[in-house]
Amino acid sequence: MSLTRLLTIPTPAAKARALAGDVLAAGSFVRATALVMADEGVVEASAPEGTGGFALRVKTPEVARLFLHALQRFAVDGCFFVPRAQTRALAGVTVRPVDHGVLAIPLEYQGVARGALVLEVDECPMPEELRYLRAYAEIAGSIVAHEETITAAKREARQSDLLALINERTRKSLDRDAILRVVVEDVRKAFDAARCIVVERNRLRRDLATIVALAENRAIEQSIPDIVPLQGTWFERVFAGSVIVRPRVGDAANDAGLVEYGVKSALIVPFLIDGKVESAMALHFAHPRAFDDVDLMMLRSVAFHVGLALANVRLFQSERQRRSRAEALERVVRTLRDAREIEETLVVFAASASHEARLSCALYAFEGEEAVLRVARAAGDAAFSCAQRIEASQFEALQSQDVLGAPDLPEAPRLALFGAGDGTAVALRVDGELWGFAAFFRPSGEIDWDDAEQRGFVRTLVAHLELSLATAIAFGHIARLARALAESSEFKDDLMAMLAHDFRGPLTVIAGYCELLLETSSSEGRTEVEAIFSQTQRLVRLSEDAVALAQTQAAGFSLNRTVVDLREFVGASVASHDPAGKRLRLLAPDERIAISLDTQRFGHVLDNVLMNALKYSGSEVSVNLSAGPAGACIEVRDRGIGIPPGELSAVFTRFGRASNARRKGIAGSGVGLYVARKIVEVHGGAIDVSSVEDQGSTFSITLPFAT
Ligand code: ADP
Repeated sequence: MSLTRLLTIPTPAAKARALAGDVLAAGSFVRATALVMADEGVVEASAPEGTGGFALRVKTPEVARLFLHALQRFAVDGCFFVPRAQTRALAGVTVRPVDHGVLAIPLEYQGVARGALVLEVDECPMPEELRYLRAYAEIAGSIVAHEETITAAKREARQSDLLALINERTRKSLDRDAILRVVVEDVRKAFDAARCIVVERNRLRRDLATIVALAENRAIEQSIPDIVPLQGTWFERVFAGSVIVRPRVGDAANDAGLVEYGVKSALIVPFLIDGKVESAMALHFAHPRAFDDVDLMMLRSVAFHVGLALANVRLFQSERQRRSRAEALERVVRTLRDAREIEETLVVFAASASHEARLSCALYAFEGEEAVLRVARAAGDAAFSCAQRIEASQFEALQSQDVLGAPDLPEAPRLALFGAGDGTAVALRVDGELWGFAAFFRPSGEIDWDDAEQRGFVRTLVAHLELSLATAIAFGHIARLARALAESSEFKDDLMAMLAHDFRGPLTVIAGYCELLLETSSSEGRTEVEAIFSQTQRLVRLSEDAVALAQTQAAGFSLNRTVVDLREFVGASVASHDPAGKRLRLLAPDERIAISLDTQRFGHVLDNVLMNALKYSGSEVSVNLSAGPAGACIEVRDRGIGIPPGELSAVFTRFGRASNARRKGIAGSGVGLYVARKIVEVHGGAIDVSSVEDQGSTFSITLPFAT
């Protein structure tokens, strides 16, 4: 027999076959069986082939060693011989009863059994032959051990190759799903497993796990579904952090899940990411004991590396997403700023949230018993459909809670909003009242967007919407108020104009008769007629002021200008108020002062200022005309009652009268100067007063030159 040939034989099974054949040929044995301890367990081969013979019931190295140990009492010259009569002692070890004596010779190397030769023989061989067999077994043992070291080295090399491969894959990609897809295939191949999967705890239903990556060969017929229950399966334990080692599936209660998917042995290791287990990797084998401790260590190391890579991906993506979300928020807020009305605000928000923040969203308003869909926008080409109307009472929880995740909602509204998907509903409050809510659909592919962060983001987004909504609602109120105000003021102006106009006719007639009476009547009743005349003139002034006031208030108030010489214009006005030239003194330059005026309206201004000066003083009033660099100036100075300090600007307001004028009972309406200011201002000029109480006032009107 040539043991050197054994060196060239590649697999433990082939080695066992060669050994059995060789030994059988070397002596007069009924049958020879070689047991070789290998990675996958104890490999057996008998010669002649197919004749049954010795076979271990449990083919593990431990059992093989136990078997040899149990033979101690049959030791003969370093071998063990069990006479035929005592082979019953082997009944528990072998599959079949043995009808001959059994000679067992351990295959040892450095004192450790690497297998055994089991020969069926009727007589114990002679010591000479035993020595020969022992020497043979020793060499064979060292060859098998050598083979084992080579296999271990190969395996180590293969495993470190796998780690290198995984590290490279994870370095290249920042896409979690892409990483997992290739890693499961690499791992499956390296462990020669039938199936490798990565499962993740389902976010919506914590009692389920989703298979997020799968690689399988066809060694197992049964397929595994995409979603598997956690309860009563090993996954439940894995998500609690345990490593599950199932060398022989079938004898534990939790095995039911594995049996169902045709698994004979399995390893499951958790991925620890940031101290949490949200996913795990499982290896399924089509044979029992398809792995050993080294494989387990290896898989744990793989899980560690993949977990690290996933944590990196997560960190990177969350940083990037956080930044892009902050930018998106800013853009949403910016677009919201221009929206004025409620509907517009809702549409702009939904459009910018879906476009900028890439969140599909739907906005609902509570109307009576229902939440009514106002706007819905999908992000990108994501499709979703949400109900038009949902019973409002289903959202009771939003009264006290700002953000509700899909799992926090009762089933009916959850399905109506998100269907089978996931999302968040955020309360929409205006002035502290629940106005409606915004529903956001959880974007797929954002693995690292953890709940707290997502909730925080949508809450901030909605806070801005709330602000804009409140503004839009307030704006609507104000616009309505302004419209009502404009309408009522327009009505009032029309009324004023109409009254003033209709007053003038009869008043002029009364004044005419008064004048006639004064001219013709004798002293009797003259005082009374004079009183009627003066009061009628007052009413005429009042009605003129009222007409002018109504005109300045009306929309589209405009001037009918002509260019005049201010000296002539003021001169004519002064003459009309003091035909006898007793009280008004006009001082004007020699040069023409060209001013563009609405003569009728500006005449009203001059009338008011001159009549006031005459009314509020008893002495001479000077009217000074001048032309300065800034324009023309008309100054009307009297030495009358003056205006108390602090009331100067009030005299130009509507119905504004100085306290001293009231006190002294001087009749007036407080409208004249207000109208005068309006008219001067539309001419591009200004009117001002300086005054000292009891000493007099100076009213000055400046006007730009005609161009
Ligand atoms: P009124 O019909 O009351 O004169 P005006 O609008 O013309 O209304 O003037 C507003 C108020 O300004 C007067 O009521 C008066 O108190 C004060 N005022 C106007 N002109 C003079 C003046 N020349 N001297 C003192 N007070 C004046």
